[in-house]
Amino acid sequence: AKKLLSYADDASHSTVGPKLANATFVTLVRNHDLHAMLESIKNVEERFNSKFHYPWVFLNNEEFTKEFKDTISAAVSGEAEFGLIPEEHWSYPEWIDQKKAAEARKKLEEDGVIYGGLESYRHMCRFESGFFWRHPLMEKYEWYWRVEPDIKLHCDVDYDVFKWMEDNDKVYGFTISIHEYKVTIETLWDTTLEFLKEYPQYENKDNMKDFISDDGGKTYNLCHFWSNFEVANMNFWRSDAYRKYFDYLDKNGGFFYERWGDAPVHSIAAALFLPRDKIHYFPDIGYYHPPYNNCPLDKAIFEKGKCTCDQENDFTFQGYSCGNKYFEVNNLKKPEGWDQFQ
Ligand code: GDP
Ligand code: MN
Repeated sequence: AKKLLSYADDASHSTVGPKLANATFVTLVRNHDLHAMLESIKNVEERFNSKFHYPWVFLNNEEFTKEFKDTISAAVSGEAEFGLIPEEHWSYPEWIDQKKAAEARKKLEEDGVIYGGLESYRHMCRFESGFFWRHPLMEKYEWYWRVEPDIKLHCDVDYDVFKWMEDNDKVYGFTISIHEYKVTIETLWDTTLEFLKEYPQYENKDNMKDFISDDGGKTYNLCHFWSNFEVANMNFWRSDAYRKYFDYLDKNGGFFYERWGDAPVHSIAAALFLPRDKIHYFPDIGYYHPPYNNCPLDKAIFEKGKCTCDQENDFTFQGYSCGNKYFEVNNLKKPEGWDQFQ
């Protein structure tokens, strides 16, 4: 029993070590984000990975510089791998009308939509939706934890999150949920409904549609899991259901003609194609991605994790979050103090 309890510590002293999951961190990042990335790494290593030494895959649409690779490699406690994204995964498919795409960007930019005019952001969202899990460096892994530059972990995570997901038969884990800007996904839901008409077999009979629709599926309520943090099983993205869904969306062109985000795309797929009990909210992973926090309100969780966040800044039960909705539709017990945000 002692051995079991301390297996995490043993990892750093033994070449045999504990049995890790088939998992990696994954980060899409640019060379100029080196220092923002080091901040994220310091947090993730101190709070979690120094106990486990999971590897970390860094992906970029341009070659990483030697400085980036050397500095990052020295900062992580597991193996670091650096990959270039193949051009087909970061460019326009032949069926996209690039003039129409440029006009759409101009329109969203004029309307003041965040990233509305940014071409690279479209490629990023399409890549994170349909391609990161097919990258040659990712192929050997089953599980991933997505990390972005400039994030924080507020609490110690003393257990192997990947193993926990595996042992508890989960597929998709998140920390923050939120409403999407309607103008970025005007036709995403109708396109999804068309897809479901063609492939009704992919809609799981015990799905979590009630999280993403308030009217039984007629309209999308804009709720999604914030995908800058994800701990998930790539077999889901690699499934026929999701591949077909992504291809269908990609053919439609909304990644370029609108500004479809990978977060609503992932979330809609998870909510429709998975049994609802495969989705997991981590109340214990204190997390910050500008400008929102997941800060445990539960006193026992906060103390156990030695959290350093301000609970008053927890986003979960604030109006723009979908946390309350998630707790409601899943009959989860809300932590004490949740109603101070209502
Ligand atoms: P936000 O979280 O929606 O505000 O968008 P971010 O700017 O954080 O981008 C999301 C993720 O994609 C982050 O991991 C960024 O590092 C990464 N990213 C965004 N644009 C690019 C790009 O053009 N090239 C690369 N290599 N990474 C990018
Ligand atoms: Mn981000």
